[in-house]
Amino acid sequence: MTKNETTEKELICILCPLGCKMSVSGVADSPEGLTIRGQQCKIGREYAYEEYTNPTRTLTSTVVITNAPLSRLPVKTNKPLPKELIYKAMEEINKVELSAPVKMGTVVIENLLDTGIDVVTTRSLG
Ligand code: SF4
Repeated sequence: MTKNETTEKELICILCPLGCKMSVSGVADSPEGLTIRGQQCKIGREYAYEEYTNPTRTLTSTVVITNAPLSRLPVKTNKPLPKELIYKAMEEINKVELSAPVKMGTVVIENLLDTGIDVVTTRSLG
């Protein structure tokens, strides 16, 4: 995705404990075309580009489970999801109801919102 706005964005890099504070501005379809300040390494520059043009997050949540000692089972997306889809993704996750036993890594939603991303369980239960 190409960023078509020139607004400056402040970011904190989360890739290592230094937590560099960065600013990003410009219009570009590669990190080289943007003005990125504050990073101390190349991967920080790439992180800033991704956060500026297409921010994503691994979504973690829980789903309802019956016939188990707990009432909810933790799940997560198997890849980072575009941030703008997180609300809709939560609506889909909230529709899931499982029945124990369930193994860790079970796909509970395949191809979430046509992204190619699955939602999987992160523990076994029952
Ligand atoms: S820019 Fe590089 S040095 Fe700074 S926090 Fe990110 S990974 Fe660490």
